[in-house]
Amino acid sequence: MSYNIAIDGPAGAGKSTIAKKIAKKMNYIYVDTGAMYRAMALYLIRMGVEKDDKEKIEEICKNADITIEYKDGEQIVLLNDENVNGLIRTEEVGNMASVSSANGKVREKLVQLQKELAKKADVVMDGRDIGTCVLPNADTKVYLTASAEVRAKRRFDELTQKGESCDLEKIKEDIIERDHRDMTREISPLKQAEDAVLVDSSNMTIDEVVEKIISLCK
Ligand code: C5P
Repeated sequence: MSYNIAIDGPAGAGKSTIAKKIAKKMNYIYVDTGAMYRAMALYLIRMGVEKDDKEKIEEICKNADITIEYKDGEQIVLLNDENVNGLIRTEEVGNMASVSSANGKVREKLVQLQKELAKKADVVMDGRDIGTCVLPNADTKVYLTASAEVRAKRRFDELTQKGESCDLEKIKEDIIERDHRDMTREISPLKQAEDAVLVDSSNMTIDEVVEKIISLCK
């Protein structure tokens, strides 16, 4: 039986940084489900689909073949066989992903892939609905959060480091709007699973959070 760790939480809580470190330490596979929703969003943007065009999203998402593979331990997202890792970390794609991920057809397709991955291997999977919906029987479940201010500042630092110019207040507004959408959508909204452990990373270092989660697995 494979061991599954589920980490859910709002944007910028540190999920991917933490999950990657845990995967490395425990020799597990890291599955970044947000990247799959982002790849789908990129496809929809390329196809010129408007955010509020539900029917078009349902029709067009069928043509997107999204798979993941691993190279030197890193997850690579393939969109119709194209490596899109370098194209999905923009605010535009993130905002589209938060809208298109509310669509049942989009979720159906990606959740199935996620379940298959977790069956085959020991995984640390992060997202919004992993503990509640994708892996309800995960061995360890964490709900990782931090204050909106801290999360916006982390996103700001990340983008600035990449050389992208951005505005802290605008990022904070986007984050709050995105969380609201993720938490209030009808299908698989972001919420803490009943059996998940709440970890607030606002005043914790990355290593402290990693150690805390690993200790929960023992
Ligand atoms: O985590 P990340 O910011 O990359 O996710 C982008 C968007 O994808 C989120 O805002 C959310 O709407 C969606 N998502 C989701 N379910 C997941 C992972 C991400 O709905 N399991």
